[in-house]
Amino acid sequence: MKRTNSEALHEEALKHIVGGVNSPSRSYKAVGGGSPTVMERAQGAYFWDVDGNKYIDFLAAYGPIITGHAHPHITKAITKAAENGLLYGTPTPHEVKFAKMLKEAMPGMDKVRFVNSGTEAVMTTIRVSRAFTGRSKIMKFAGCYHGHSDLVLVAAGSGPATLGIPDSAGVPKSIANEVITIPFNDPKAFQEAMDQWGEEIACILVEPIVGNFGIVEPKEGFLPLVHNIAKEKGALIVYDEVITAFRFHYGGAQDMLGLTPDLTALGKIIGGGLPIGAYGGRKEIMEQVAPLGPAYQAGTMAGNPASILSGIACLEILKQPGIYEELDRLGAILEKGILEAATKHNVTITINRLIGALTIYFTDVTVENYDQAEATDGEIFGRFFKLMLEQGINLAPSKYEAWFLTTAHTEEDVMQSLVAVDHAFSQLA
Ligand code: PMP
Repeated sequence: MKRTNSEALHEEALKHIVGGVNSPSRSYKAVGGGSPTVMERAQGAYFWDVDGNKYIDFLAAYGPIITGHAHPHITKAITKAAENGLLYGTPTPHEVKFAKMLKEAMPGMDKVRFVNSGTEAVMTTIRVSRAFTGRSKIMKFAGCYHGHSDLVLVAAGSGPATLGIPDSAGVPKSIANEVITIPFNDPKAFQEAMDQWGEEIACILVEPIVGNFGIVEPKEGFLPLVHNIAKEKGALIVYDEVITAFRFHYGGAQDMLGLTPDLTALGKIIGGGLPIGAYGGRKEIMEQVAPLGPAYQAGTMAGNPASILSGIACLEILKQPGIYEELDRLGAILEKGILEAATKHNVTITINRLIGALTIYFTDVTVENYDQAEATDGEIFGRFFKLMLEQGINLAPSKYEAWFLTTAHTEEDVMQSLVAVDHAFSQLA
């Protein structure tokens, strides 16, 4: 496969953009190095790079593109938004409609506020939790990523873990001291940490289904226990549904699992591909936020009509009957085919899959927490990633990420990808 244009552009990018990328996870550092593929155009389930190569895309921009690239319903909404003026700095009817849609879809959303990214959404849920409880510590699970604000860049999952930066430089130790990190899916560790610090904790950040060390579901009973103990100790539960909302189920993990958090952070899918974030939750907690309350949060771009109309259009598509059933059907075919190819070529893997998202781990261990994900073979993953890329299959360049199916993928795309997996595994063996 010719890659000379990608390589030349990356060389040029290195002169002007730090590391040549605008987000560290886009570099190929974690898969043995090399120039990242520079993409020029995307349509449906496909990408075309600057050398004219076509790819089936399973990156889906790290999650937001669940309806495939350039979906006509979303494109139309964005075009209309542009024609009517991009930014008003005033309330609009669109944001009211979208807030109502999110409220109707998600049980834990009495009141909503729109922001511009998942990072902002989570950062603000922490501030609001602290304002409401008058406490300062927070708890998070090891390996879970909650954006790049200071407090949550501690034991922070795929990006930093991939790059070997457990804590970022520039985050003061005093801030890291406010964060208690415990393993996911470990009721005993949770109970012990809550016995020790429970009454000092403002909120517990939870990825209800983990997406940041691969797809990892909570074990039976784990999240109900987290909710019960948090309530007993007066700590708030914040669900970070930046990945999970509308990914597996219309309404998010909270509606799927039947558990209602105090606050929720959203991003990715709810913007249909444009920048967005949102947070919301119980009325009395959300009323801590300015102009009603003392917790300050603001944004020039917040609730901009293009992001809002794009998000509404995306959710309208996802609300159609049968969407998640089809993602699940294709996901099951993909999972089965990958496992068969692994057996055929004697490659040791395990797969975690939920609906249309899956992670292949090069290990014989079932992955339920970050330590197990970290112990999987990154060197083999790197070789697998490149073998897939050469065959026109675009995956996330990290062993900690997921393959995301979209509504644009067909069974034929899945079958073609399985042929590539079979070949890649034959080369690994
Ligand atoms: N929370 C989770 C669970 C995420 O996966 C991410 C991004 N991958 C974020 C927060 C941060 O979102 P953003 O990149 O939009 O700031």
